[in-house]
Amino acid sequence: SQATDPTTPDIAEKSQLMRRSDVRNIAIVAHVDHGKTTLVDSMLKQAKVFRDNQFVQERIMDSNDLERERGITILSKNTSITYKDTKVNIIDTPGHSDFGGEVERILNMVEGVLLVVDSVEGPMPQTRFVLKKALEFGHAVVVVVNKIDRPSARPDYVVNSTFELFIELNASDEQCDFQAIYASGIKGKAGLSPDNLAEDLGPLFESIIRCIPGPCIDRDGALQMLVTNIEYDEHKGRIAIGRLHAGFLRRGLDVRVCTSEDSCRYARITELFVYEKFNRVPTDRVEAGDICAVCGIDDVQIGETIADKISGRPLPAIKVEEPTVKMA
Ligand code: GDP
Repeated sequence: SQATDPTTPDIAEKSQLMRRSDVRNIAIVAHVDHGKTTLVDSMLKQAKVFRDNQFVQERIMDSNDLERERGITILSKNTSITYKDTKVNIIDTPGHSDFGGEVERILNMVEGVLLVVDSVEGPMPQTRFVLKKALEFGHAVVVVVNKIDRPSARPDYVVNSTFELFIELNASDEQCDFQAIYASGIKGKAGLSPDNLAEDLGPLFESIIRCIPGPCIDRDGALQMLVTNIEYDEHKGRIAIGRLHAGFLRRGLDVRVCTSEDSCRYARITELFVYEKFNRVPTDRVEAGDICAVCGIDDVQIGETIADKISGRPLPAIKVEEPTVKMA
C-alpha cells in the first residue's frame, strides 16, 4: 500500500509500518547511450552544491573518478546521492536481458524508477523489458526526456510514445499519469517544460522526491534484510547486498540467516557498508529502509534473509515469473 503523500512520514495500515521520508530508493532504466552515466554524474556533482551540511570532507579522487577522468564511463551498480536532506539510492539495471531474475531483485529493493529516454530517439525496445517489470511491481515512474539540448529534440513525440508504451504494458492509471522531466545531463539542466529549463537539476531531484515514495519500513520490528545481490571481494569474500526491511544492523551483530521457514544458521556481521557516491563506505549502523552491504556470512546466498538472532523469520522470496507486489 502506497502512502498518498510520500514526502511526509505516515503510518501505513499496519500500524507498525511507516514510510521513511529521508530516503528514496530508485532504479535507473535507460537504453544504452541515452545518457544515463552523464546524467548521474551531473546529479552527483550538483548534489554537493545543494547539500546543506558542509561537514562532509571533500575526498581526493577515488579510483572510479580516475577511471572517469580517463574517459571510461562506468555506472556503478549502486550509487547514492544526497540532495538537501534526502539520500537517494540509485540502482542501475541491466539494459535488455535478465540474468537469473536480476531485474526482479533490483526492483524489489526500490520504490520507483527513473526512466531515461533520449529526446530524439524516444523509447527503445531494449528498455521495454525492464519497464514492463517495474510497472508490474507497481512502481512509480519518473520519465526523464534527456539530451533536450539536441537541436533535433522532439519532446512531444517522445512523451507521447512513452505514454503509448505505458498503455501497451498495462500500466495503471496512476502510473500513466507520470511526471515527465526534460533534462540535459551534459549541461546539468532540467525543467518541467522543455522550453523552461532551470540552470540546475533541481527540478529533477524535486520530482524524484515528490513522485517516488520513501521506503515502507518496520523501524521497531526485528531485523529483516532480504539478500538481493552478492558481490565478491578478494579480501572480504562474499558481500551480501539488500535493503533493510525492518529493524537495524550494526557491525558485530550476531544474526540468524534464514534460508527458508525451517532452515537457518547463525553468523556475525563483521563489516557493514552503505553506498556513498560510487563507493561502498564503512558504517557502524544502518537503519531500516536503507540499502547496505554486509560481510561475515561466508556462504550467503541470494534470496536468504538476514534476520534477528532470536526471533528472526525469513522474508517472502521474490517471485520471478508472475506480477508481484513487493511487500506483504
Ligand atoms: P549511457 O550509455 O546511457 O550511460 O550514456 P552516456 O552517458 O555514456 O552518454 C552517451 C553519449 O551521449 C555520450 O557521447 C555523451 O556525451 C552524450 N550525451 C550524454 N548526455 C547528453 C546530453 O544531455 N546532451 C547531449 N547532446 N549529449 C549527451
